[in-house]
Amino acid sequence: MRLKKTPMFLKKCLSKKYLCVVLSIFFLFGCVGKNDQKTLNKYSAEYFDLFDTYSQFTALCASKEEFESLSERLHERLLTLNKEFDIYNEYEGMNNLKTVNDNAGIAPVKVSGDIMELVEFGKEAYTQTNGKINIALGNVLGIWHNYREDALNGVKTAVPTENELKEASKFCDIDSIIIDKSASTIYTDNCNTRIDVGAVAKGFAADKAKEFLENEGVGAALLNLGGNVIAINDENKPTWKIGIENPDLSQNYIDTFDTANSTVVTSGNYQRFYECDGRRYHHIIDPDTLYPADNNIAVTVKGSSSAVSDMLSTAIFILPRKEGEELARKYGYAVLWIEKNGAVVKTKDF
Ligand code: ADP
Ligand code: MG
Repeated sequence: MRLKKTPMFLKKCLSKKYLCVVLSIFFLFGCVGKNDQKTLNKYSAEYFDLFDTYSQFTALCASKEEFESLSERLHERLLTLNKEFDIYNEYEGMNNLKTVNDNAGIAPVKVSGDIMELVEFGKEAYTQTNGKINIALGNVLGIWHNYREDALNGVKTAVPTENELKEASKFCDIDSIIIDKSASTIYTDNCNTRIDVGAVAKGFAADKAKEFLENEGVGAALLNLGGNVIAINDENKPTWKIGIENPDLSQNYIDTFDTANSTVVTSGNYQRFYECDGRRYHHIIDPDTLYPADNNIAVTVKGSSSAVSDMLSTAIFILPRKEGEELARKYGYAVLWIEKNGAVVKTKDF
């Protein structure tokens, strides 16, 4: 298994603000037999090379060997998804979203089923959230990304000008992304438009991980993919206890709950940000202002699909509470807000 467990590495991740453990997890009821009398034990693994964040996988297995083989195959599946959805790096023998972006205004690009499905979901997210989630916003998000990297790497600390952002926003039309299902291609018809799937990719990947684990016949498992959590329990018992981390990163949890089968996703302003002149500039951008959204500190969404929870947590983070509530109600998903003033509010079903 390719697992890096060095505390130094973790420290490096933390200092770069790459670590994004939004939810902390505890195992609640141990050693549950599945359909037989075999005793199952709890095993855990950590992954440091997925989606630019920290991930943790826990499952009940009959032996350490069985778990390690499972974890290795899960890790491989997630690494493939990571490469496919990467907009910064290219990989030999594969067309990924960087290939699609590099061919904007030039040619349609043949892509895998995973990419087709995710981009289709991303386009649908635009409609569902009234444009608050826009996977064609890459041009604007790229500017914020570069300013953040420069600030965190000590190159320069500045804020993009309104003009710069407005110019970039001219090339963020969702209809520029053209999906041809029969040819399995994606084409961006404007050479300046860039796709960024950051708002939905981890949730989508977590659903794919769940599918993988269920196909493997895993009875009880928990995956935290950088704050996108999926819980599996085939006996539908509340096997897992989930704690919602305090944005001040203290040991006190904002809330805890037990779950059997659900997905939980948090979007917050306290993991990926930089500061300039005493103000925090984080990574979730309101497409209407082109600046970081400032209604909330964090939003956690709980529901059956992780891709939907991921889409909703980002959109509801951007929206004022009433509008966020309406959106969540449409899907029947539960929400917990930590509002700008620190107030914790949740829907009745959370
Ligand atoms: P995280 O990736 O930290 O878990 P989110 O799921 O909320 O958090 O997604 C944030 C990412 O989504 C950003 O890093 C950026 O790539 C992208 N993004 C930010 N704002 C928007 C937006 N309004 N529409 C689409 N994508 C966005
Ligand atoms: Mg999201």
